[in-house]
This record gives sequence, C-alpha cells and structure tokens, in this order.
Amino acid sequence: MFNIGCHLSISNGFEAVGRQALEIGANTFQFFTRNPRGGSARKIEQSDVDALIKIMNDNNFSQIVAHAPYTMNLCSSKQETREFAYNTLTDDLKRMEYIPGNLYNFHPGSHTGKGVEKGINQIINALNNAMTETMHTTVLLETMAGKGTEIGSRFEELREIISGVKLKDKIGVCLDTCHVFDAGYDIVNDLEGVLSEFDRIIGIDKLKAVHLNDSMNYLGCHKDRHQKIGQGAIGNDAFKRIINNSYLKTLLFLLETPNELDGYAKEIRYLKNIYEI
Ligand code: FE
Ligand code: FE
Ligand code: ZN
Repeated sequence: MFNIGCHLSISNGFEAVGRQALEIGANTFQFFTRNPRGGSARKIEQSDVDALIKIMNDNNFSQIVAHAPYTMNLCSSKQETREFAYNTLTDDLKRMEYIPGNLYNFHPGSHTGKGVEKGINQIINALNNAMTETMHTTVLLETMAGKGTEIGSRFEELREIISGVKLKDKIGVCLDTCHVFDAGYDIVNDLEGVLSEFDRIIGIDKLKAVHLNDSMNYLGCHKDRHQKIGQGAIGNDAFKRIINNSYLKTLLFLLETPNELDGYAKEIRYLKNIYEI
C-alpha cells in the first residue's frame, strides 16, 4: 500500500483533520503537537480522538506522525531552553498515548556552539529520561540539512544518538529528502548509494518515515528551503525513484511542501500516479 499524506493543521481538532486528509486523498498525515514556535498545547478531547481513530480504521490509514515544535532544542546552550524542550518532549509523549502506536518526529537540535559531542549527549540524556518502557510511540530523529549548528545532518550523528538511547525498539529515523539533499547526500544521482550508506551506518530497519520535499537549493548547500515536488533541484524523476525504491516504498511518505490544501491534493494525485503497485 502507498502511504501518502502531508502536513496538516489540527487547529480544528483531530476529527476535522482526519476528514481533511480523506478529502485530499491521503491515508496518513503529520501534525504539529502544538504551535511550531512553541507554547502550550490544546486540551485533547477523548471523543474527538476516538472520532479520528474511527476515520483511520474505516479508511485503512497507516500510522500518523506528530511533529515536535521547531523551538524544541534539547541541546541548547541555554539551560531554560533545554528545560522547556524537555518539558515539551515529556508532555508530548504523554499526549501521544491518546493515539497509541503512532510516530513522534523531532529535530535532534542545535548545539549552539558547544560542539556536536556535548549536544549529542544532552539529546541522549533527555530521550532516556523522557521515554518510558510502557509508552506506545516510536520516536523519530529527523535527518537535518545542517544549517547553523544543527545536529543530525550526518548519518553518523544519528547513529550516535540511537546507540545511546536505551529503549532501542522505540527509536527510529525520519528521512527528509530536502534535508538530506541539502546536507550533501546525492539522492538524485545515487539514491541506492545513499540508502546503502544509511543501512551501513544506522541500519535501514530504523527508517520509518520519509518527508517528501523538493529543495530550492543545490546539493550540500546546508540551507533547508522546501520546494514543491518537481519544482526544485531534486526533481520529478528522483521522486519517482524514491517512492518506488524497494526499501522505501512501504514506509510513510509525508509532504511538507509550500502548498495549501489544493496544492497538496494535486501532489498526492501526482505521486499516486507514478507509484508502482
Ligand atoms: Fe521537520
Ligand atoms: Fe521534514
Ligand atoms: Zn525542513
């Protein structure tokens, strides 16, 4: 089955977002757990969540992805930023239990000058304190473009984080096509090579989801500017290979392209057309 969806807003609740996903031909979606800039999350109504779960079951949805706010930096040099991030993470993981069995994706963080090693240790400690044996969520580290002091633009860094996390069966990776391309992994000319490197360093079984975004910039630019599918440096041919790749084709694909709802619907239709069953 082709698991395809996009980033949607949950500002009208969970049932509304489930219907919206259906309308645009999606069978999965991603949402921010709270305002992407941070702040507190809205109260979850059990009946609203139940309505979403019913929509998902009735329509063969795959797993869905919650995305942590961008401001959640577990390895900031500022202690209050780290504490805020840790509190956000624990609260989000608690809230995820309303929709058990799904995925929680976050940006590993920016070390803001004190170095990758120290940053990685702080990320590992936060994860080990926040993740629990009884939770039903898989936490995903997103591959990053490497702008500023971002951690996670090299597969080696993600491996190091994963190797420090105690609950190994609850941690995975989400590969963002724009980010890995901007980080210097040539998924346009050597997708197989990039994936075998991923497998060698992290293990392909750790890969759970793919963010499908074209890139406004060139290979290795470390920029992170998303473009519509086919309108950037990655291009339609590469996306056709990506969604049909034997390692990737059964994973979740989520668009985070600069689009409104109708634009997402169009991209989903297009991708369904070039997906080989
Ligand atoms: Fe992201
Ligand atoms: Fe992404
Ligand atoms: Zn991005």
